[in-house]
Amino acid sequence: MNERNEGNAFMAKIRGHYTRAEKGGQPFKAGIILFMQTLTQEALWQALATIPDPEIPVVSLVEMGIVREVTQTPTGEVTVTITPTFSGCPALEVMKTDILTRLKQCGVPDVTVRTVLSPPWTTDWITEAAREKLKSFGLAPPPHHGGDFAILLFDPVPCPYCDSQNTTLKNNWGPTPCRMIFYCNQCQQPFEQFKPL
Ligand SMILES: [Zn+2]
Repeated sequence: MNERNEGNAFMAKIRGHYTRAEKGGQPFKAGIILFMQTLTQEALWQALATIPDPEIPVVSLVEMGIVREVTQTPTGEVTVTITPTFSGCPALEVMKTDILTRLKQCGVPDVTVRTVLSPPWTTDWITEAAREKLKSFGLAPPPHHGGDFAILLFDPVPCPYCDSQNTTLKNNWGPTPCRMIFYCNQCQQPFEQFKPL
């Protein structure tokens, strides 16, 4: 057992006693087990990976690249750093509440959500798995641009339904500022693209 694991086991023991006291002296072993799990970075990320993006629930906050960092103090206080897709996005409060609720459900007693706007969120942070999910949701995923937006002007946007590149931009502003509306000349369906940022 390395130092970190020993520390985790020790904290779990403390938490276990604390939980027993809360429950009026009744042993409450589930609390101990959950707490041990949440003390690993992996478990924290796994818990966060179950939180859907409030605007596109087929993908998670982690897959969208919104969760930037998860840190933990030796006494178990967790800080989650997020960069929202748009500043002033109304979904921000929903995301914060969802993160607090989920981690507390997993036995983390003290959670802080920190919002960082710089560097700004970019669609390049969306994972490959999320791009596939967006596509099956009928939303053309944003292409990788590495900061060079000029290349996007010449790249065709493939239709998420039939993969045809014979598509036409219909409207720069879709139902939300992050989406553009296209029309597929092949399967004759309108579709939205997640606007590259
Ligand atoms: Zn099509």
